Amino acid sequence: MSNCFILLAAGKGKRFKSNNPKQFVNYMNKPLFMHSVDKAIKSKLFKLIIIVSNVPIKSIKDKSIKIIKGGKERYQSSQKALNFIKDKKFKNVFIHDAARPNFSIGLLKKLKSNLRNNNAVVPFVKTENSTKYRKVNKIENLNRDNLLFTQTPQSFDFKSLHRLSKVNKNIVTDEASLFLNNNKKVKFIKGEEGNFKITTKSDLKKKNIKSFYGIGFDIHRLIKDKKLYLGGTIIPFHSGLKGHSDGDVILHAIIDGLLGAMRKKDIGTLYPSNKRKFKNIRSPNMLLPILKTIEKDNYFINNVDINLICEKPKVSKYREKIVSSLSNLLNINKNQINLKGKTVEKLGLIGKELAIACEAIVSLNHYD
Ligand code: ZN
Repeated sequence: MSNCFILLAAGKGKRFKSNNPKQFVNYMNKPLFMHSVDKAIKSKLFKLIIIVSNVPIKSIKDKSIKIIKGGKERYQSSQKALNFIKDKKFKNVFIHDAARPNFSIGLLKKLKSNLRNNNAVVPFVKTENSTKYRKVNKIENLNRDNLLFTQTPQSFDFKSLHRLSKVNKNIVTDEASLFLNNNKKVKFIKGEEGNFKITTKSDLKKKNIKSFYGIGFDIHRLIKDKKLYLGGTIIPFHSGLKGHSDGDVILHAIIDGLLGAMRKKDIGTLYPSNKRKFKNIRSPNMLLPILKTIEKDNYFINNVDINLICEKPKVSKYREKIVSSLSNLLNINKNQINLKGKTVEKLGLIGKELAIACEAIVSLNHYD
């Protein structure tokens, strides 16, 4: 993986009319520029993320993110970032304007796969508006079918872009222009209508955020001579959980919670226990298609809260291990996960250490 993501967040945004530059205003629960950063991280495509900003950003501690100072004009900021990474041996570089927070991770992946045969890949959309062009003393009609409105992120072969950028002295509004101005080939791919640029304050209201909640519950019997899986990781114990799969009650409760929040029935419908192909399936593999749906349908996990109900093992002893494993599997931060242990006063099957139960509640955000 040798891709670098450059986020240009140094603009002043004159049309936005605010003292706080638009890249830093609160947009759908977080600073506007963070939407792009989070998606770049989630895509797992990038070794390094560079944020070009003219105001200090203190909140970021991630080692894979570097913040550098920008230039006066956009093209100068981009030049600075490219110079910054010139000796870091990146094969590809993606350049993105922080004012477009609504692209999908799928678009990043398409940009990446198209780089295999191209040095410049640029998304575009068309317009539904009738379009005119003003010349010195008359206004001409333009055929809108021939108009391409380019977006960012744009992806490039690093060497080709750096070469063009080093010698450029002109104001260009995106990197695609550098290629076109020098008669170099650009591969245009279909962009996203939702990936609009936030220019004025009213653009902030174009998208709605909705929260959904889902609840999950699961219980499995404990049997001797079986490994105990909880939250996708092995926990040392005298018994393991019996089930058609590995019996991981935590992951099963979370899966049901996620399905519930997306209103997509339940784990039993997805993985019927009478189907042989699901026999002994590991629970992280049961989670994978659900995470794909989350990404495809534009949901984001807010938080997961879990009650693990058992006498033993002691949750406090394994909390860190289980939460770390869940954070990896769900691709979210550890501080979005809470795990509580609950005993049952030695009552019933759970009290006799013959079963473990779990309940989980999850909250998802959806952007329409
Ligand atoms: Zn289960």
